[in-house]
Amino acid sequence: MKKVLLVRYAEIHLKGLNRPYFERMLVDRMKQAVHPIPARIEREQGRVFVYDVPEDRLEEAAKKICAVFGVHSVSPALCVEKDWETIQKAATDLVAADVDKPTTFKCFAKRSDKRFGMTSEQLCRELGHVLLEAYPNLTVDVHHPKLKVTVEVRQSSAFLFTKELRGVGGMPVGTNGKAMLLISGGIDSPVAGYMIAKRGVSLAAVHFYSYPYTSERARDKVVELTKIVAKFAGDIDLYLVSFTDIQLTIYEKCPSSETTVLMRRLMMKIAERIANACGAQALITGEAIGQVASQTMDSLACTDDAVTLPVFRPLIGFDKEEIIERAQQIGTFDTSIQPYEDCCTVFVPQHPVTRPKVEQLRASEALVDFEPMIEKAIESAECMKISQFVLD
Ligand code: ATP
Ligand code: MG
Repeated sequence: MKKVLLVRYAEIHLKGLNRPYFERMLVDRMKQAVHPIPARIEREQGRVFVYDVPEDRLEEAAKKICAVFGVHSVSPALCVEKDWETIQKAATDLVAADVDKPTTFKCFAKRSDKRFGMTSEQLCRELGHVLLEAYPNLTVDVHHPKLKVTVEVRQSSAFLFTKELRGVGGMPVGTNGKAMLLISGGIDSPVAGYMIAKRGVSLAAVHFYSYPYTSERARDKVVELTKIVAKFAGDIDLYLVSFTDIQLTIYEKCPSSETTVLMRRLMMKIAERIANACGAQALITGEAIGQVASQTMDSLACTDDAVTLPVFRPLIGFDKEEIIERAQQIGTFDTSIQPYEDCCTVFVPQHPVTRPKVEQLRASEALVDFEPMIEKAIESAECMKISQFVLD
C-alpha cells in the first residue's frame, strides 16, 4: 500500500488544445517545487500523481505542491491494487485515525476504469457497509459528513483519500509569457509580482538604487524580497540599476513639485528598454489608485505616457490593508518593513503635484537630455540570477 499525492489542477482544463503543454509545464513546476525531496511525478487522465516520496516527507511535499501556481488541490492518498478486497482493507486503514470519537461519514466513488467489476454506486454502498461494520463510532450523514471517504478507480490503480488540501490556483508559471517587475523594497511591488506570476507569467525584475543616498542594505533587502517571490514565480533575473545621476539631475534641473513623477517616468523608460532586451512583454508596478501623490489618476497617466509596453498594476484597486495581508500570506511583509531608505523617499518633494499634466511633464523632461544617462545606467546595470532554490 503506497502513500502518494493526488493533485488536481486549477484552470488548465480551460485550455483546450494547449492542455498537454499546460500539463507538462505544471509537472515541471511541481518537480522544481518539491526538489530536493525525492519524488516521481506523473500525469494521468486529468490528474497529476506524486509517487515515491519518503513517507516522513509527504506532508512537506504536499505543502510545497499546494504553493505551485496551477494547483487546485492536493489529496494525500493510498494507492492500491484495483481489487475489492484490497480496497476495503485500504479504506479501513485510511479512516482508522479519524474514528476514535463518534463521527459522521459518507463515501464517494469515481471509476474511470469502466472494466472494474463494480459501478461507482456499488462501490460507495459496499464501502459504507464495510466501514460501518468496522467502526461503531461511525454513522452515515449524506448531507454534511465530517469525514468524506473517496475512492477513485483509475487505469493504473485505485486511490483512496479523506483530505483535500487547497492549492493556490492560478496557472503554471511560463505558460503566459514574461513581464518585468519594478521592485522597490516596499510592501507593494513584491505582492504585485506574485499576483502576475500567479497568472502564469514568468518574471524579470529591475531595481533602481541611488548610492550613496541609499544603502547597500536597502539593495540586499530587494535581493531578499526577489528570492521570496522566486520561490513562487521561478527563477528571476534581477537587474540592479544605478539611478543616482538621473535622480540628482532631476532634482537640480526640473521643477521640484514634479520630481517624483519624473523619476517614475525615467524608471519606466529604463525598465521598458531592459524588458525589450530580455523578452518581457509588459511592466508590472505595485501602484494603487490614490495611495500617494504619484499614484493619482493623473500621475498614473503621466507614468504610462513614458512607455509603450502595457503596464500591469494588479494592486490598482487594493487598500493598503489588503496588500499587507497578502504580503503576510506570501511571506514578504517582514522583509519589506525593514527600515532601509528607498531612492524615492530620499528625494521626495515637499509639495508634490497631484494633478500633473502629460504635456507639462514632457516639457519638464525635455529640459534635460536624459538619453546619455539612460544609456549609461543600462550599460552599467548588474544582472543577478535569482534562483528559486536559494531558500529552503
Ligand atoms: P512599494 O511598496 O512597492 O515600494 P510604494 O507604495 O512605496 O510601493 P512608490 O514608492 O510610490 O510606491 O512606488 C510605486 C511603484 O514604483 C512601486 O510599487 C514599484 O513598482 C515602482 N518603484 C518605486 N521605486 C522603485 C525602485 N527604487 N526600483 C524599482 N521600482 C520602483
Ligand atoms: Mg516604494
